[in-house]
Amino acid sequence: EHFLQRIQTLDPQLNSFVSITAEQALAQADAADAARARGEAGLLNGLPIAHKDIFCTRGVRTSCGSKMLDNFIAPYDANIVERMRAAGAVMLGKTNMDEFAMGSSNETSYYGPVKNPWDTSRVPGGSSGGSAAAVAARLIPAATASDTGGSIRQPAALTGVTGLKPTYGRVSRWGMIAFASSLDQAGAMANSAADCALLLQAMAGHDSRDSTCVARPVDNYLGELEKPLAGLRIGVPAEFFPADLDSRIADQAHAALAELERQGATLVPVALPSVHLSVPAYYVIAPAEASSNLARFDGVRYGYRCDNPADLEDMFKRSRSEGFGAEVKRRILVGTYALSHGYYDAYYLKAQKVRRLISNEFARAFEQVDVLMGPTTPEIAFGIGAKNDDPVTMYMADAFTIGANLAGLPALSMPAGLVDGLPVGVQVIGNYFREAQILNVAHRFQ
Ligand code: GLN
Repeated sequence: EHFLQRIQTLDPQLNSFVSITAEQALAQADAADAARARGEAGLLNGLPIAHKDIFCTRGVRTSCGSKMLDNFIAPYDANIVERMRAAGAVMLGKTNMDEFAMGSSNETSYYGPVKNPWDTSRVPGGSSGGSAAAVAARLIPAATASDTGGSIRQPAALTGVTGLKPTYGRVSRWGMIAFASSLDQAGAMANSAADCALLLQAMAGHDSRDSTCVARPVDNYLGELEKPLAGLRIGVPAEFFPADLDSRIADQAHAALAELERQGATLVPVALPSVHLSVPAYYVIAPAEASSNLARFDGVRYGYRCDNPADLEDMFKRSRSEGFGAEVKRRILVGTYALSHGYYDAYYLKAQKVRRLISNEFARAFEQVDVLMGPTTPEIAFGIGAKNDDPVTMYMADAFTIGANLAGLPALSMPAGLVDGLPVGVQVIGNYFREAQILNVAHRFQ
């Protein structure tokens, strides 16, 4: 009731929720109370949470931030929704997001932009900007989010919360609306690494309905949180501190590294010479996969359908042109082009080779170090509308985060001070399935 009250009073200024499920929430809270009374309290028993609107929630609108799915009531729950409910979590609503998770500012949502609670004239980052703003404003203690190319870590950094993208395959994608299937990964946002550890504990695990979800025992993420950092080797890639980086952001990252060094960690310079190609490679691969994944929205089976179509082709065309926003259309066009005969080798295949190169460089770095660190984003939160005229400038907001998606590595962003009164995030990237280790580093820092 406390959090529902905060959402009612404060969210009109932030627009971080697209649906509020108060009635179901109170019923779920009663069920959690009853479970506790029976001695059957789950790991998240009674914990109020919100789900990013990319996750299907049975009986509740699941819009993915799009007019295309504005009328879509999901007939089933996403795997992580199921798991978190089984652990006793109470869903208070669904959070706003960039349309189909395409964006870095939450301005592409059909439901309007989300405002950054630190300064409502600025963006909260994206695409999980609703989850980030809601957690930062304490409208909810924790939320789910998804990260295809930085969408958990970048908004976490810009709003001063902790956001965790697990290893690709650690958490099931079942019921998470697909954007770029080889990159999409569900994860958590909360006010601390310890809270993210708790959420991951409930989310992670094998699911036979997602063929890329790995059948590997789930670690004890809470168990390693307090481990001392003595002996930890932290790789510091020079590429995460380019010459044109805002020196105030670099200073905050260096201060975080110094604190970890003080706790016994060793800093090791490492090289990721191809990581500057992450953004260009991503913006071929992700749109290519999106153009295929979004072919299902055709006005036939579910979602938006245009009025009075003249024939089948007219229905496909108008349903899609009226149902999708500008950024989604841009991605579909770019992706279709990159995959078309005659261009496939030059763009898609080339991008896949660059992706492999980047993964190999990460693998080499992890032969020398335990984790990699640097700033999460090159900039602090920018003004609403500031980057709308130039999509490429917007794409650069994820220059430091996209590498981990291309390689499938786990990564988190944690708050590390302020610049101009706005939060700065530091990123910790781990080796495959070493979520426990990056959570440990973040917890010791916090
Ligand atoms: N900025 C990236 C994009 O627009 C982030 C996507 C994501 O992680 N969902 O594609």
